[in-house]
Amino acid sequence: AKDMGRNTFQFYQPEMNTSVGARLNLERRLRRALRDGEFLLHYQPQVDIKTGQIVGMEALVRWLDPEVGLVPPSAFIPVAEESGLIGPLSEWVLREACRQNKAWQDEGLPPARVSVNLSARQFQQRDIAKLVMSILEETGLEPQYLELELTESTIMRNAEEAVTMLAELHALGIGLAIDDFGTGYSSLSYLKRFPVDRLKIDRSFVSDIGASSDDETITSAIIALAHSLQLQVIAEGVETAAQLDFLKERACTEMQGYFFARPMPHDAIPALLQRAGT
Ligand code: C2E
Ligand code: CA
Ligand code: CA
Ligand code: CA
Repeated sequence: AKDMGRNTFQFYQPEMNTSVGARLNLERRLRRALRDGEFLLHYQPQVDIKTGQIVGMEALVRWLDPEVGLVPPSAFIPVAEESGLIGPLSEWVLREACRQNKAWQDEGLPPARVSVNLSARQFQQRDIAKLVMSILEETGLEPQYLELELTESTIMRNAEEAVTMLAELHALGIGLAIDDFGTGYSSLSYLKRFPVDRLKIDRSFVSDIGASSDDETITSAIIALAHSLQLQVIAEGVETAAQLDFLKERACTEMQGYFFARPMPHDAIPALLQRAGT
C-alpha cells in the first residue's frame, strides 16, 4: 500500500506529465541499446592506501548512443529502473564484468576483484543469488574476485529481508560492500547483522575533507566504526593528496578517486594492473 501511495504521488507531479513522451522515447532507445550491444563498462581502480597496489576496480556502465555519444549512468539508470529494463541491463553488467576480470587473469595479470553496482530493483529480485552463482560458473571467475556494491538506502529499504538476501549472496563467497555509506540511516544494530565486508564512505564527506569539520568528523567516525566492527573501509571520491593523508592517518584501508585514476575503458586497465603488480 505504501508503494502504491508513492507511485500515485509521483504520477501527479507536473513535470512528469510533460516528460512522458521523452521518457517513452528514452525507454525505446534503451531497449534498442540492449539489443544492439550499445552498453560498455568503464573501470575505476581501487587502491590499497598502505601499499599503493590496485586491489580492485569498480565497473561503471556507460551507454554509447550512436546519436549522442557516451551517456553517463545518471541519464538512463533511473528510467531503466522504472521500466524494468534494469533487470536485463544489470545482468549484462554482471556477466561482462566477471568475463572481463577472468580474461585479465587468464592473460596472467595480477588478480584484483571487480565491484559491480546492484540496483535496488535487482536486489528485490528473490533469485539474485542464483543469477550470480550461474554467472560465476559460466565465466569461471572465482567468487572472491567479485564484489557487489549495494547502497545503504537499498539495504535499509527492507532491512529484515536484506539480512537474508545478503546472507545468501555472502554464502557464494563473493564480497559485499555498502555503497554511499553515511548518507542513509543504518541502525547500528542492523549493521552488525548484515554479513557485509566493506563500508564505502560516500563522496560527499570525502570531498569536504579540509573544508568542513563536520564532514571530517563523520569520515573519521565511519572509519572507526568499520574498524570496531572488523569491516574493510574504502573512501570514494578522493581527489587530493590532503584528503588521502587524512584517510591514511586514520587507517582507512582503501581509496578510489580521481587523485589516483578516473574511470577508464577496459583496454587501459592491463597496463595499470601490470605496473601495480611489479
Ligand atoms: P557510484 O556507485 O557512487 O559510483 C561512483 C561515481 O563517482 C562514478 O560516477 C565515478 O565516475 C564518480 N567518481 C569516482 N571518483 C570520483 C572523484 O574523485 N570525484 C568525483 N567528483 N567523482 C568521482 P558514474 O560512473 O557517473 O556513476 C554514477 C552512478 O551511477 C554510480 O554511483 C552508480 O550509482 C550508478 N551506476 C554506475 N554503473 C552502474 C551499474 O552498472 N548498475 C547500476 N545499478 N548503477 C550503476
Ligand atoms: Ca558504487
Ligand atoms: Ca558511491
Ligand atoms: Ca559534504
